[in-house]
Order: sequence, then structure tokens, then C-alpha cells
Amino acid sequence: MSYLMPIYQPLAIEFQRGEGCYLWDTQDKCYFDAISGVGVTLLGHVHPVIHAEIVAQSQTFLHLSNLFKHGWNERLAEKLAEITGLTQAFFCNSGTEANEAAIKIARAYGHHRGIQRPKIIVMQNAFHGRTLGALSATAKPAYREAFGPLLEGFEFVPFHDLAAIEHYQDDPDVVAVLLEPIQGEAGINIASPLYLKQLRKLCDQQHWLLILDEIQCGLGRTGTWFFYQQAGICPDILTIAKGLANGVPIGACLTHEKLGHLLQSGLHGSTFGGNPLACRVAYTVLDLLEKQYLQTVNDSDVC
Ligand SMILES: *Cc1c(COP(=O)(O)O)cnc(C)c1O
Repeated sequence: MSYLMPIYQPLAIEFQRGEGCYLWDTQDKCYFDAISGVGVTLLGHVHPVIHAEIVAQSQTFLHLSNLFKHGWNERLAEKLAEITGLTQAFFCNSGTEANEAAIKIARAYGHHRGIQRPKIIVMQNAFHGRTLGALSATAKPAYREAFGPLLEGFEFVPFHDLAAIEHYQDDPDVVAVLLEPIQGEAGINIASPLYLKQLRKLCDQQHWLLILDEIQCGLGRTGTWFFYQQAGICPDILTIAKGLANGVPIGACLTHEKLGHLLQSGLHGSTFGGNPLACRVAYTVLDLLEKQYLQTVNDSDVC
């Protein structure tokens, strides 16, 4: 019997160490790690630079709370702003929390415009996480059924079907469209650059926020920093997590100035979110990705 809740059924392989893209089990058998912790260990196991940064941070302090400055959250936010053009960051500890922040901003934006019961258009086959807000935006019945009632205000439409979204043009309660530009749960469903451009245009016309979840497909996995950059568009809100700190838990919700200012002091928060260890490692990951693998995409023209 296991003392863990039976949420996962891990394989009967126990790993003792990793290096780069390899893992060794307790019998010292070597495996090629093609799973990468489900899109997390972008730079491999025990990357020497990341290792050194983790050691260095653990020699100063691991945690301070957001009551004090430590520099790393600011540096990381600035770096993300350079990469995305989105100048306001909220840091949390996971992808689902990043989406919770995005949902809150979209609802606050709705309230700001006098919409009492704001709606967000989301996609069939979407996956946005397991907390109740993100789960309410996640389509799969098997994930949802046991936990009702879920949050109201989510309208599901087929992925990559602009007409299905245009159908909501006369609905005054819609405030945002949320999607993964590459869906990862129901196969790999890739939005075309044309669809993303048209969706951006529709959102602009309707004053709807375009929220992109690049928690899985972002951070260089498609050859540019983010997939949406290949369509030459910019979202109003971008959520990222998974590979951001190569395995140290972190998530981020990024937006532009006007929307970021909707979350004033006391309206949102996180004990661990934005901590120096996670932010320092994430900053290092971005720096390594930039220097070794990617050119900085200057998309200030589209934002
Ligand atoms: C993994 C994932 C999430 C949830 O991230 P967690 O860190 O597990 O909460 C959300 N959206 C997408 C697209 C994901 O792949």
C-alpha cells in the first residue's frame, strides 16, 4: 500500500539521478528522458549553470515574502517584458495558478466596464489546469464531473473555428477569449497564424481580451520564444509555467500596463509566488535559452 493518494499510477521504475537528457534508475540502468518532466526540464537535468545559481541563492536566502524586495522578481519580469512586450508580471507557482490570475484579470476588466457577469470564451479539448477556476475553463468531462458546481461564465466553442466565436459578437457579457495556440491534451492541435491574426482582430473590434496559455508550447519549444510570435500578434494576457525554471516550480501571468493595474494591492497574492529562488532560476533559464538557442524576437512592433 502507498501513503500517497491514488491520483497517479507511476511506473515501477525508480530514478536516482539525471544528467542532461539522461536518467539512471536504482539499478543504474540508463534511460533517454524524452518526457522531460512533461515539458519542464527544457535544459536537461543538473545543468551546471542552473545548479550553481541554485547553490548561490541557497547561501543567501530562499524566501522573503513579497513584503520585501530581493531583485530577482523585478529582473525576471523585465526580461519577460523584453521577450514578450508585456510589461506587467504576476508570479505564482504553477500553470493553473497563472490561469487563475488571467481569469481574475478578465473578470476585473469586465467589472471595470460595468459587466456584472462576465463570460470567457474557451475551447473544446482545452486544458488549463486543475484548480476550480482553470478547471472550469478545461473541457474534459472526466476532469470536471466529480467536482461540480464549477465556475460559471465559460462558453465552449470548437478549436480553430472563428465563426463559432463570431457568433458571440452580440453577447454584451463576453470579455475575453482564452486558448492554447497549440492544444496538447487532445492530440497536438495547432492554430494557424491566419486564425490567430483573425482572432486578434476580432478581439480588438469587440474589446475582448485575447488570453493565450503557452504553459506547454511556449519558451522556445516551437523555435521562437512563443508560438503566437509566429503569427505576428500579441496577446493581452499570456500565461506561462512548466519549463520556465527548468523544474523549480513557477508560473507567470503577463499582461500590459492597463490590465496589470486592475490587480491593485490586496486584490491578489501568493506566499511563494515570485520567490527569489524560482525567479533567479527562471531568469537564468531565459538567459541560457537566449544565449544558446534563440535570438530575442523583437515584437515591439505588434504590441
Ligand atoms: C500543464 C498545463 C497547465 C497546468 O499547469 P500546472 O503547472 O500543472 O498547474 C495549464 N495549461 C496547459 C496548456 C498545460 O499544459
